[in-house]
Amino acid sequence: MGRIAYVNGQFVRHGQAVVHIEDRGYQLADAVYEVWALFGGKLADPEGHFARLERSLGELRIPMPMSREALTIVLRETVRQNRVSEGLVYLQVGRGVATRGHAFPDEPVPPSIVITVSSVDRAATEAKAAKGVKVITTPENRWGRCDIKTVGLLPNALAKQAAKERGAAEAWFVDDLGFVTEGASSNAWIVDSDGTLRTRDTNANILRGVTRHTLLDVLREEGVKVDERPFTPAEAVDAKEAFITGAGSLVLPVIAVDDKPVGDGVVGPVAMKLRRLYIERARATAI
Ligand code: PLP
Repeated sequence: MGRIAYVNGQFVRHGQAVVHIEDRGYQLADAVYEVWALFGGKLADPEGHFARLERSLGELRIPMPMSREALTIVLRETVRQNRVSEGLVYLQVGRGVATRGHAFPDEPVPPSIVITVSSVDRAATEAKAAKGVKVITTPENRWGRCDIKTVGLLPNALAKQAAKERGAAEAWFVDDLGFVTEGASSNAWIVDSDGTLRTRDTNANILRGVTRHTLLDVLREEGVKVDERPFTPAEAVDAKEAFITGAGSLVLPVIAVDDKPVGDGVVGPVAMKLRRLYIERARATAI
């Protein structure tokens, strides 16, 4: 059976799914998105992703295309029709279709909505986690509202491509003061020499990662000390361990920054334990 997409009220074959040429998401990146990890066919961290979706839309004055309850039903139905158990769900909501112009349409138009589902090979991603990944650094060049999860991802796409060309899985943006902001599609963490976890605070110009948030809950329960304070790439190299979090990466150990080994240059116990704890939590609370 082929993939199915949900596009503006209809389930359509993925290969035949289309959007209008004057969809403002397509022309102006006037759209936001969310990505849920799927565990056993269920949406991970539902509350966090719905809350962030509502916030992103609110910041851009785009209405929710339907209620949270209705959206949950549509997301689940898209997952069911794709028969995916372990994977990712992508939702994009945009301002809608209007004759091209920068300002919002005079008459409100219905928001556009697209949902796609893809499967993830968990055995392969576990093997990747067990080996750890490399990251590169790149100067921060994004706009000042990275807290809004918009589809305007060109700097992120270019950074990710640069990482790929250097054999790395992620690029960390570094601000003018020399501190890591976040990854192109993940939040960045280190484990300090005294075992304290460090990650950038969300008052900075970063995305408020849902995986980051859930992991903070887990860490609080585990009694692990966390310092929401920025770090430099050099501090990451000197740290015991480093890792990234995100709906796609979950908790993924980082073993090198710009080809300099982090700590001993091998996957450490903290990141792997946190990966296990996060996945257990996410599986148990998925809906
Ligand atoms: N930061 C950026 C720029 C991202 O694109 C993402 C995820 O796509 C994250 C952080 C991690 O967010 P989450 O844990 O909600 O997936």
